[in-house]
Amino acid sequence: MSERSWLTAAGIRPRKRLGQNFLLDPKIPALIVERAGWDPAAPVLEIGPGGGALTHALLAAGHPVHCVEKDPALVTLLQERFANEIEAGALSVQEGDALALADEDLTRTVRADPGARPWVAGNLPYPITTPLLVWCYAHAPRLAGAVVMVQREYGDRLLARVDTRAYSSITVWTRAHAEPRSLLRVGRSSFWPRPGVESVVLELRFPDPPPFSGDRAALERILRAAFGQRRKMLQNTLASGLAIDKTEAVDLLREAECDPAARAETLELNDFARLTAAWGARFGSPE
Ligand code: SAM
Repeated sequence: MSERSWLTAAGIRPRKRLGQNFLLDPKIPALIVERAGWDPAAPVLEIGPGGGALTHALLAAGHPVHCVEKDPALVTLLQERFANEIEAGALSVQEGDALALADEDLTRTVRADPGARPWVAGNLPYPITTPLLVWCYAHAPRLAGAVVMVQREYGDRLLARVDTRAYSSITVWTRAHAEPRSLLRVGRSSFWPRPGVESVVLELRFPDPPPFSGDRAALERILRAAFGQRRKMLQNTLASGLAIDKTEAVDLLREAECDPAARAETLELNDFARLTAAWGARFGSPE
């Protein structure tokens, strides 16, 4: 059966509120599974499996899968479509909200191999992309990485080079946890219904040890302050964002070997790491 027939036979009508754009072209999930740099049998936590297009490709490649889907009608469809795989223990399907993931969801994902670091995967609904990635980064020590389909513009931000318009706080926050790379571009005609924008599949590998090993809460505060008013000089944005005097902000930046007159988008992760360390040494952790 085609992907479209699984959905229509189950009476599914795409719901905009749930960001439902279903992958119809079976070549795309197959390419995602083939190009991602995961071990062949790595367990996968799939977010928003929909009618199971990616789930099918993951299972066919031998990945044990635990998936979390918010739409109860799709949960029923998945249970029927993959009854054999569920029976064999290769797949578990959970009705739930990916924005309320718990540690048990990771434990369920690695049920056959409790020592494994699973991957998160999914063709993500746009509104949950940032909170889900932030959740993944917070759990990076327990995860091998994430393979996610996102809007192309959003993908450009995660992959952006320093000193470009797309370079932003989520770029640096991503670099602090992950090594990102683009796996595949996906056109609008691959989906039902056609989305308004193009998509890209990214691999975000979480290295061990992580790229940034300093105080994450302090780095987050500094990024928020620095990029909150990205057109302004760092000496000003840090003074207001960190609630310190401008002279203290200038000293801090000089101590971290950063130009006080520079803008946030010219600083690399290493610069922000030195700035975080200098701030911690002077003022302690923000938590
Ligand atoms: N993976 C399927 C595919 O590629 O055809 C569906 C992708 S569709 C873009 C997004 C899926 O995420 C839908 O199945 C939708 O119901 C589900 N979803 C939306 N919000 C969710 C949430 N907060 N938690 C879990 N699933 C969610």
